[in-house]
Formats: sequence, C-alpha cells, structure tokens
Amino acid sequence: MSALEQTELLTPNTLDEALRFLADENTRGTLLCGGTDLMVQWEAGVRPAPARVINIKGLTELSEIKMENGALVIGAGVTHAALRHSSLVIQCAPSLAEAAATVGGAQIQALGTIGGSIGNASPASDMAPSLLVADAIAELASVRGIRKVPLPKFILGYRKLDLAPDELIVRFHLAPMPVGAKENWHKLGPRAAQAISKVMGSYRGKVESGRISLFAVALGSVAPTAVRLPEIEQWLIGRAIDAETLKGAEKRTSDIVKPIADIRSTAEYRRWVSGRLVRGFLEHLASPS
Ligand SMILES: Cc1cc2nc3c(=O)[nH]c(=O)nc-3n(C[C@H](O)[C@H](O)[C@H](O)COP(=O)(O)OP(=O)(O)OC[C@H]3O[C@@H](n4cnc5c(N)ncnc54)[C@H](O)[C@@H]3O)c2cc1C
Repeated sequence: MSALEQTELLTPNTLDEALRFLADENTRGTLLCGGTDLMVQWEAGVRPAPARVINIKGLTELSEIKMENGALVIGAGVTHAALRHSSLVIQCAPSLAEAAATVGGAQIQALGTIGGSIGNASPASDMAPSLLVADAIAELASVRGIRKVPLPKFILGYRKLDLAPDELIVRFHLAPMPVGAKENWHKLGPRAAQAISKVMGSYRGKVESGRISLFAVALGSVAPTAVRLPEIEQWLIGRAIDAETLKGAEKRTSDIVKPIADIRSTAEYRRWVSGRLVRGFLEHLASPS
C-alpha cells in the first residue's frame, strides 16, 4: 500500500464544518482543493503524503464571484476556468482573467483554483501579480473568527504564508480597475501552454491629460514572492509616455529586480526581460486600444 493510500480523507459539507475539522487536532489535515499542485507534489515525493486531507473542493461558500462594498470578491475555490470566463472579473480585473487563461491547459484550469495558487506560495503563481496590482486582501477564516490581510503581508516568502494551522483562505477582495484605466498580463515561458513561467507580470495604469496618473506593476518569478515595484511606480507618476520614459523604466526595472537562476531561466535573462515587460506595459498603456 502506498503512503497516499493510507491518507484519511475528510470531506466537509460546509465551511463551518471545514473550520471545525481544522480547529481540532484530531481532525486537522492538509487542505486539498483542486489538487493540481498537491497531487503532483505527493506523487513526485516533493512533499510526503499527509496523514489526513480535508477536501474543500466544491464548498459553495468558497465558489462565489461578486461585488461587495465596492470590492470585487472572489472565493478561494473559484477555478481558473471560472475566472477567465467571469464577466465581472473581465470588467473589474481583466489582467486576472487573462492570467487565468494562461494557467496550464484546459484540464488544469477546470480543477485548479485561485486559493490553491496562493496557498501553494510559489513565486511562479500566475495569479499573484494580477492580485497584487488590484491591491488584493486575503480573507482568512477559523473558528476564532475572520482576519483580512493584504496580499504582500500574507505571502511571506517562498512557500511561507501568514496562515495559522486552523485557518483557511475564504476569499480575496480586490479593488476594481478605475474608470478609464487599463490592465495587461504577460507571461514568458518555454511554450504557450502547460508551462511554468520564467517571468510574468501584470500592470494597472491610467493616463490623464497626457501624463501617467496611475501605475501599479507586479512581476512574478523574479524574487521569492511575486513583487510590486514601488520605485518604478513612483518614478512613472506624472510622466508622459515618451522614448525617455520607456528607456528609463526599462533600465530601472532591470537594475532593481534581483532574480535567481534556476532550471527555468538564467538570472540575466530574467533581469533583462523584466525591463522589457515593463516597457511593453507602458507601450500598451499609451496605445489607443
Ligand atoms: C500540468 C500543470 C500545469 C500547471 N500550470 C500552471 C501555470 O501555468 N501557472 C500556474 O500558476 N500554476 C500552474 N500549475 C500549478 C497549479 O495548477 C495551480 O497553482 C493551481 O491554481 C493550484 O490550485 P489547486 O486548487 O489545484 O491547489 P491544491 O493542489 O489543492 O492546493 C495547493 C496548496 O494550496 C493549499 N490550499 C488550497 N486551497 C486553500 C485554501 N482555501 N486556503 C488555504 N490553503 C489552501 C493546499 O493546502 C496546498 O498547500 C500547474 C500544475 C500542473 C499539474
């Protein structure tokens, strides 16, 4: 019998039941949603098969996409397939819908979830950059109550989250894209589908009276977590998008990011392409469409 065959599976019917399982050390277990990260990690031996799994797939409390108090609220159990086709997401956070459409292939998008993507705490999460430019807040629940944590404070490092053993991510709250603003997503991998990113990023920006009035940019796979680039954002505010701005933003970005080399890419390529990505975002912002 394999180690995984000995794993106990608990399937709560409600969020409350899931939280009660997590609260009790006799029923606490590893959260499993789409399983597209976990099943691969267990099979490959990257993580040992756990003694107990709590299957939260299909909990209705985690599956909603809605507007609430002016925020776009996305349940942690929402799949990439649901994200890419949601008219609310396309309207309020278009780069997130674009990012979801590039995750894996159709099978992975049908099962994989936004909560699992952030729960995995990988710098290669294609969800993280678009959540960061939308100032996303993670809502966490336990039997002790609710906590809301801004994403940069929630993802603490490589495979490290500010998540207690009895907590789970319930939903994300995003600031909707302001009227007249634009967003874009770009991912560089070895091929168009079924590829983990070498570098990827999202931006949200706006030009008013010929000058940049809003620019938020986040890159993934260039640091232990996906990162916003506040120095670049501040440098760009008030500038026109001309040749000097494009060149300056590209160079500054390449100078600021400190990626590592790994099996997917060299550090030099990641630095260079980060600058090109930000330049491309500015060209997109300046374009009429
Ligand atoms: C072939 C293949 C291709 C892939 N391609 C991509 C890609 O292009 N881009 C990309 O970003 N990813 C990719 N992935 C990775 C994966 O599909 C995504 O990260 C997916 O979103 C994970 O979601 P899940 O629901 O399947 O997570 P699971 O595997 O169920 O869980 C992942 C982690 O999150 C935790 N977790 C899950 N839900 C919660 C919650 N509500 N609260 C707290 N913790 C939680 C789990 O305990 C676990 O640690 C790929 C995977 C495969 C197998």
